[in-house]
Amino acid sequence: MQTDSSTTFTQKTFPCPQCGASMIFTAKNATLTCEYCGSTTRFTPPALPIYEHDLDAALEKIEKRPRYDLKVPHQIKCPVCAAKFERKPNIRSMRCPYCDAPIVTNLDIFMPLAPESLLPFRIGEKKAKEIFTQWVGSLWFAPSELTRYTRSDTHFEGIYLPYWTYDAETITRYQGRRGEIRLRPARHTVIDDEGRLRTIETMEEEIEWWPVSGEVRLHFDDILIGATRTLPRKLADSLGPWDLEHLVPYDDKYLSGFESETYSVALEDGFDYAKSYMEYRITEAVRRDIGGDHQEIDWMRIYHRNKTFKYILLPVWTAHFRYRDKTYRFAINARTGTIKGERPYSKIKIFLAIFFALLLAATLFYFADTAESHPIIIRYFG
Ligand SMILES: [Zn+2]
Ligand SMILES: [Zn+2]
Repeated sequence: MQTDSSTTFTQKTFPCPQCGASMIFTAKNATLTCEYCGSTTRFTPPALPIYEHDLDAALEKIEKRPRYDLKVPHQIKCPVCAAKFERKPNIRSMRCPYCDAPIVTNLDIFMPLAPESLLPFRIGEKKAKEIFTQWVGSLWFAPSELTRYTRSDTHFEGIYLPYWTYDAETITRYQGRRGEIRLRPARHTVIDDEGRLRTIETMEEEIEWWPVSGEVRLHFDDILIGATRTLPRKLADSLGPWDLEHLVPYDDKYLSGFESETYSVALEDGFDYAKSYMEYRITEAVRRDIGGDHQEIDWMRIYHRNKTFKYILLPVWTAHFRYRDKTYRFAINARTGTIKGERPYSKIKIFLAIFFALLLAATLFYFADTAESHPIIIRYFG
């Protein structure tokens, strides 16, 4: 990864050995396939280990580098038709807008970090469309005419999205309090049915608090943080789980025919998201460690050790559809077929659902009310 003046920005395609047309990576057979004559070429990715890099060392290195984004080239020259066009921000591979050639650039050499591994597409466009159609059909609150509408109008885009994965060991010291519920007899004076004053004893709950302090150790492996701004974070982070055990070393050939993005969430900022996820899980672990019926955490101090990361690309089918002048976006995990997205709601279906829910609640309430239910009185005193 050099960004000195000798760095050249390259744009390439993978010509078919049979006919010279461009080849693209196809999910179905995991090979390069010619778009024109259909011949296929097997390839094996470079036999490189997939490292988890030291996070602090990488952050320090990035800090010392000159600003790189000023040097990132913006103009692409199509290797097939020679047309020149503007590259969209953060896009590493794309189709030529003039001749549709699948172009892969070496944009990463202008970035402080390049992806070292990826999961190739396993679900092709045809299958993705089936998943989408099924999903729309299964939406309980979706307007009925939507099913018909989305079939014709939706354009799918296959894209490799950038993700960070983080690992860390954490040691957390904390101080807090454990609350234990005790039952305590309490006496009350009441007026009974005959109008006499009586003293009754009931058992009341009381929380007894004990000071506690301790230490919790948790190891985190492959916390996955979306590094794209193209998809909303909620959508990008909801597509898991991913079969990260099948990551393969990065190779340009996997990208041919697909768009792919470089990261636009910095390594450091991604780790902040990972830290808040860890804190959430650590808080749960601290509560378990405190034990008892109630837990109060006065303070906790988290130390992160052996922090490592990977920069990976994950395959996603994404599209948006317009429905009644509004745009809805969705995404499909191109490994597992998991689909997540925004969807329109049918007002009439929601109204009917709420109406029947209320009706059911009212019925249950009516029957519950006729059953006997009274507070437990333990003992009468004369
Ligand atoms: Zn060919
Ligand atoms: Zn072209």
